[in-house]
Amino acid sequence: MDSDPNRVVRYGRVLLKLSGESFKGDRRFGIDDKAVEFLAEQVRQIHEWGVGIGIVVGGGNFWRGAEFEKHGMDRSSADHAGMLATVMNSLVLQDWLERRGIPVRTLTAIPMQTVAEPYIRRRAIRHIERGRVVICAAGTGNPYMSTDTAASLRAVEIGAEVMMLAKNAVDGVYDSDPTLNSDATKFEHITHQHALELRLQVVDSTALSLAMDNEMPILVFDIFGDGNLASLVSGQHVGTRITVDEAGEQMSMPRTANPPLV
Ligand code: UDP
Repeated sequence: MDSDPNRVVRYGRVLLKLSGESFKGDRRFGIDDKAVEFLAEQVRQIHEWGVGIGIVVGGGNFWRGAEFEKHGMDRSSADHAGMLATVMNSLVLQDWLERRGIPVRTLTAIPMQTVAEPYIRRRAIRHIERGRVVICAAGTGNPYMSTDTAASLRAVEIGAEVMMLAKNAVDGVYDSDPTLNSDATKFEHITHQHALELRLQVVDSTALSLAMDNEMPILVFDIFGDGNLASLVSGQHVGTRITVDEAGEQMSMPRTANPPLV
């Protein structure tokens, strides 16, 4: 547990979305040990502060269903393969966290009991209440969806106060793709509605609308900026805040979390 009595910890429970891309570091494909070690260290730090943590892991470092559909593969099968890719990343992250002495459970949306527990919302909440990091693997369990959408869904389900959308190529939400347009401007704050209207690529529209309808704030930030995750959890501004209200004040509203399970 955190030994600093003056530390400000803004959030009691968060949902962190880690993209598959962030697991591959500088590699073209797959897993980079150093990248995963870095990610695990960021999680360890906020876990030490007593923050309840759910994590949704992507699979884009191995597989994206839509790309295989373009090559003629049946979309549902391609998406099932993509969801399995997220399970691989989840098991790798689970292993790194366990090696750091952090209690962690992987729960899968596609049942595979010999590998991990099935995702059951009440069980996920119970694990978090007991101080375990919960990794939600296999996305939503449904094709034609993304792990961003799974992150919005799990954030709402587990009563997270905020969804932290970690990026590795950009450091927030821009009005156009900053990797293609050097004049792209970063938003400090934007509403879900405005982001939807601009059809920005940084968060998919299903994830955005689900978050908007449930007043779930989203923080978009660069996970590889050292200490960014910890700064956000301490209430500092990093990246872009997406909130339902124009002023961006929603961040300070306490969420009505689910009652503790007995
Ligand atoms: N996927 C899916 N349903 C979900 C989540 C993911 O079908 O609920 C599949 C989809 O094929 C996607 C792949 O899993 O391309 C990997 O997820 P995603 O692209 O969201 O990973 P990320 O971009 O975050 O690495």
